[in-house]
Amino acid sequence: MENKAEMRDWLNDFGLSHPLVIGGPCSAETEEQVLKIAHELKDTDVTVYRAGIWKPRTRPGNFEGVGAIGLKWLQKVKEETGLLTATEVANKDHVKLALEHDIDILWVGARSTVSPFIMQEIAEALDGTDKIVLVKNPVNPDLALWLGGVERLYTANIKKLGLIHRGFSTYEKTKYRNIPEWQIAVEVQNRFPDLPLICDPSHIAGRRDLIFDVCQMALDLNFDGLMVETHWDPDNAWSDAKQQVTPERLVEIMRDLKIRKPSDEEAEYQAELGTLRAQIDVIDQAILDQLGKRMKVAESIGTLKKSKNVAVLQSKRWNEILGRMVLEGEERGLSEEFILRMFKAIHQESINHQEQIVKS
Ligand code: PEP
Ligand code: MN
Repeated sequence: MENKAEMRDWLNDFGLSHPLVIGGPCSAETEEQVLKIAHELKDTDVTVYRAGIWKPRTRPGNFEGVGAIGLKWLQKVKEETGLLTATEVANKDHVKLALEHDIDILWVGARSTVSPFIMQEIAEALDGTDKIVLVKNPVNPDLALWLGGVERLYTANIKKLGLIHRGFSTYEKTKYRNIPEWQIAVEVQNRFPDLPLICDPSHIAGRRDLIFDVCQMALDLNFDGLMVETHWDPDNAWSDAKQQVTPERLVEIMRDLKIRKPSDEEAEYQAELGTLRAQIDVIDQAILDQLGKRMKVAESIGTLKKSKNVAVLQSKRWNEILGRMVLEGEERGLSEEFILRMFKAIHQESINHQEQIVKS
């Protein structure tokens, strides 16, 4: 993708402050609800109003959105409050209707980004538009699929593009609804520094008490904006009730977040340093997670060896592993001495875990 700078320009062209804050309900429910929330957000940091009109639901039988009528309510929001408007589009009919109703920002949902067919259909329907189009990450942690979707749009002459990180679905039970896998967001920024990146803490967290921390992490990682689901009566929302916050809570969140604004050289240096440190923290966390998993596997091996009465230390296999790791380490610019020291420590810890099992 050449000329990526064009993509970041829209943030500036629109005079959208840093960070860009998108607020509004998961779903448009009624005209009154849409307008009430919009008026409550009008004089806050929110500059873009979101509301889902067509709702992709994992299971049938849930509220599937009000449909095209909701676009008229969003037009009214713009007229009455001056907020820009945003909604999700998932096929060419949605695109046509959203453009006809002059919606400012269209986003592609996580369930659409997974499908190159749908992305292609949306890209063709949007061909040449000067609207802003944001692409959510696919539900599965596949960077190529995410960027492939963006490339299809870019090829269709859509230049005001951006990404929304909404976490990834996982079979593992975690405190998040969709695990953030921050290292993927870091990678995307390193590879495409000019693509604005917005965090959707609501779909990552899945519960409102985690939203603040997810927002702070995103800002520490230098995200360009936040999309926070906001409802005047979250508990009674027709979709995603647990993860929505009230407009008052959103104001508090924005007030308490540490937002780094690089204004002079020193601040710029601090901001850059802060971002890099946050990246290191993410990587260290991933290293620890993997080591924890490795020890669990070692324990399973311990159980297996115990059942067959086999010795814990198998030096032939260990020497093979070490030899391979030294070579792999070299390819990554890691010294032999470091690899040997690190794996010796890891191996010792594994043996300790296995021995505990064998002794038990
Ligand atoms: C949404 O933003 O309401 C939505 C459906 O999100 P996602 O595509 O991330 O699940
Ligand atoms: Mn939602």
